[in-house]
Amino acid sequence: MASGTLYVNAGPCLTCAKLIVSCALSRVVRRDGHTDEGIEFLKRHGVRVDVW
Ligand SMILES: [Zn+2]
Repeated sequence: MASGTLYVNAGPCLTCAKLIVSCALSRVVRRDGHTDEGIEFLKRHGVRVDVW
């Protein structure tokens, strides 16, 4: 699996989450801990989600 880390200020929406998964990124680091459907989608597809 390709790896990469994306840093975002706000949680990705579901559309962006699908793009992240299709780019085979392995980790997303986000600024707040709010959980939404985009985050749930990432986790379901094995993307590690951290808060900074
Ligand atoms: Zn979006």
